[in-house]
Amino acid sequence: MTKSEQIMELEHHYGAHNYHPLPVVLSKGEGPFVWDVEGKKYFDFLSAYSAVNQGHCHPKIINALIEQAKTMTLTSRAFYNDCLGPYEKFVTEYFGFDKVLPMNTGAEADETALKLIRKWAYMKKGIAENQAKIIVCNDNFHGRTISIISMSTDPDAYTGFGPYTPGFIKIPYNNIPALESALADPNVAGFLVEPIQGEAGVYVPEEGYLKKAYDLCKAKNVLFVADEVQTGIARTGKLLACDHEGVHPDILILGKALSGGVIPVSAVLASDEIMLCIKPGEHGSTFGGNPLAAKVAIAALEVVKEEKLAEKAEYLGNIFRDEIRKIDSEMIELVRGKGLLNAIIIKPKNGKEAWDVCLKMAENGLLAKPTHGHIIRFAPPLVITETQLREAIGIIKKSILAF
Ligand code: PLP
Repeated sequence: MTKSEQIMELEHHYGAHNYHPLPVVLSKGEGPFVWDVEGKKYFDFLSAYSAVNQGHCHPKIINALIEQAKTMTLTSRAFYNDCLGPYEKFVTEYFGFDKVLPMNTGAEADETALKLIRKWAYMKKGIAENQAKIIVCNDNFHGRTISIISMSTDPDAYTGFGPYTPGFIKIPYNNIPALESALADPNVAGFLVEPIQGEAGVYVPEEGYLKKAYDLCKAKNVLFVADEVQTGIARTGKLLACDHEGVHPDILILGKALSGGVIPVSAVLASDEIMLCIKPGEHGSTFGGNPLAAKVAIAALEVVKEEKLAEKAEYLGNIFRDEIRKIDSEMIELVRGKGLLNAIIIKPKNGKEAWDVCLKMAENGLLAKPTHGHIIRFAPPLVITETQLREAIGIIKKSILAF
């Protein structure tokens, strides 16, 4: 058995079988590259589902982590710590909101947003108790908790986990008339939406969808809530995907790249009017807002601006899509995306599917993962250079043309 096989066997034997990873065991990362335990080098074109936008082990972020880890890691929110206030000032000014509520994972931040929407519904909008409804979109992905899977239309996500949390209205994504009719219900308090549906397969809505949806919500005094856990922080070529349409959400949900993939850091941002609906004791988390997270997030967000990652994603994304569209293969049904969040829809050929293409790419030195069977997402760390990107495109081309 190789070292990789031994480690995979351990996971298979002792770990829950809730994932189906590509058979690659990684032990080191730097910038856009990762290495497996046998020393083979790969381009990372998943970036831990867009958490590692700043590249693996970015020195500035790792230094912030190490320096703070030597001083203090966790106080809980029972006491103040000297890192949280400065981080809260920094992150709210960075994204243009009054207040932030710090959490850890994306799912927790989404749960926080759901609670905020409901609280605001009762305290500010005047909806009768327990009657608030939240509009969500078909094929959404917001995480794995019970309430979040209650919003899901993916049978793999929800089957066997009922009973479900009530209070959600599900409408088709990228469909303004459906939103308009759902908004006719006076008990609707919020519309929760991904500006691009990442897990659904990088589904990009029509231009103008977000702005129209935002305006419709405003007309009905409904909160427009953007889940930018995957699309945010420079991934799509702007700081936020909502920026492409000049939309400033009422509630913004961030995670993943907020720490550059170093430790779990998520956040919910909103105005005073919304955020102050939650009072002491009504929400929180032992680790949310810890000193390590605060220092790491500041460093991670500074890197995004210092290294102009949004501008890079915009520029390199155009090259990526142009070059992939030039590949002459029946297996490429469609290429879509924004910035460096892209996907290829794979048409199976001779029984070979997206999974086989991913295995071939891994063999050739590039890691990506299928989503929903026939779609491959391509989302490299945004620190990748143009030369590196062109080399990676060569690997993708060679791999697809092998079939
Ligand atoms: N929201 C979106 C849009 C996501 O893409 C994800 C994860 O992929 C989440 C929420 C959940 O984040 P986490 O896995 O950190 O809970």
